[in-house]
Amino acid sequence: AKLEGRGRWCFYSADMVNRSARQLQLEAALRRAEERDELALVYQPQICLHSGRLVGMEALIRWKHPELGMISPAEFIPLAESSGQILSIGAWVMRTAVHQMKQWIDEGLPSNVVAVNLSAVQFRDPGLPELVQKVLDDAGLPPSCLELELTESVAAHNPAEAGQMMDRLHALGVRLSIDDFGTGFSSLSHLKRFPIHTLKIDQSFVRDISTDPDDRAIVQAIIQMARALRLTTIAEGVETDEQAAFLQSHGCEAAQGYRFCKPLPPEEAQAWVQIHTRP
Ligand code: C2E
Ligand code: CA
Ligand code: CA
Ligand code: CA
Repeated sequence: AKLEGRGRWCFYSADMVNRSARQLQLEAALRRAEERDELALVYQPQICLHSGRLVGMEALIRWKHPELGMISPAEFIPLAESSGQILSIGAWVMRTAVHQMKQWIDEGLPSNVVAVNLSAVQFRDPGLPELVQKVLDDAGLPPSCLELELTESVAAHNPAEAGQMMDRLHALGVRLSIDDFGTGFSSLSHLKRFPIHTLKIDQSFVRDISTDPDDRAIVQAIIQMARALRLTTIAEGVETDEQAAFLQSHGCEAAQGYRFCKPLPPEEAQAWVQIHTRP
């Protein structure tokens, strides 16, 4: 038993060393990724479930490391958050997405809303509203064309401060949405008080909507509550016709997911919209 225990210790210890070595390697590489043009945005169309029209495009970051290949944002965003680099990456994301939407509007895209994910670290930066204003001014994009996606966790540890930041952003005229809604135990009183436009129903509730009565009940409850609070709803991770039909029949406004379109580089996303959505 002792031997086995020791063997196991060696195994875990090597694994931990490897993991932190990869983290260190990625952190160092990420610092150069921006200037080396290794970062890119892909866009996922958001579709109105009633009209089939495009209601927005969510920007999602991609990193192609020269040797390691594609690194998931789920892996490198937390690293960028702990190193502080998320502030410059986040600013790059916002600038790029806002300029892209300005170009799309000029080319006649049938929706003018681009949604950008904000890290909690960005959200706590007092300079965020100035940055948003500057990015919009530089691109000549109206503020109503930008939606900022926040997770419930940003409000969790200091609701008063989070509320003030939301008020400042709302005052600029941008829209706020709550991402991964339902996973973070949002207090309903926050929802009522905060200037939020959209709830994004987390894909974990959508996944088994066709088979799991609990998930159906949760999704119905979220949609009804959103309506009562005059918020719109977008379902994430919609992969099947059945899921889309359930959501539509229960009053969910919009959806995004592989059922419609996966996240694509800008030209391909634009081409998809032209072929698949109503004008
Ligand atoms: P998220 O904001 O909740 O984004 C949804 C994720 O679900 C994306 O993964 C998207 O590619 C994926 N997805 C879309 N449709 C479907 C579907 O039908 N089925 C399934 N199974 N998945 C689908 P992705 O692009 O890997 O991003 C993962 C997370 O990384 C995002 O979750 C977001 O939290 C974060 N992230 C991505 N881009 C950015 C960014 O620019 N800034 C920040 N701060 N975070 C980002
Ligand atoms: Ca999101
Ligand atoms: Ca989400
Ligand atoms: Ca998520």
